[in-house]
Amino acid sequence: MHPHGDPDGPDGPGETPGDTSVSSLEQALHAARALVLADLVAHEVAEAEIVSLVEEAVAQRRWWVEQWPQGAGFVAGLVAQDVQDALLDRYGRWPLCPVCGSGDPHALEVEPELGPDPHWVCHQSGVKVAAVGSLGGRL
Ligand SMILES: [Zn+2]
Repeated sequence: MHPHGDPDGPDGPGETPGDTSVSSLEQALHAARALVLADLVAHEVAEAEIVSLVEEAVAQRRWWVEQWPQGAGFVAGLVAQDVQDALLDRYGRWPLCPVCGSGDPHALEVEPELGPDPHWVCHQSGVKVAAVGSLGGRL
């Protein structure tokens, strides 16, 4: 007969990570949203419809990062790629490479795809153009 409940105290088993991890997840998601929106504003594509794409991407990554809190630092790069994919269907390539003056217009890509400190990189020229969230300074 095991009574439910705790033998010794009200605290239950184990240590909960506490609300610090929750708030750091929220911070990571909030930062990711702000960074990607900043890049969209830099390209003057931050229309209401597109802002909602960002919201959608952040909402999906919220679930992802809740499953894997260690990935909180990767969320900005992932949201940037999610939004890039969503825009490709509805709007076109984003963000267009600002460093190659000739040739076919092409989009920058996020590097690393899954890692901290994401940057926009031109794969044709090999140039690291700007950190995600800092494209505005490069236009
Ligand atoms: Zn380029």
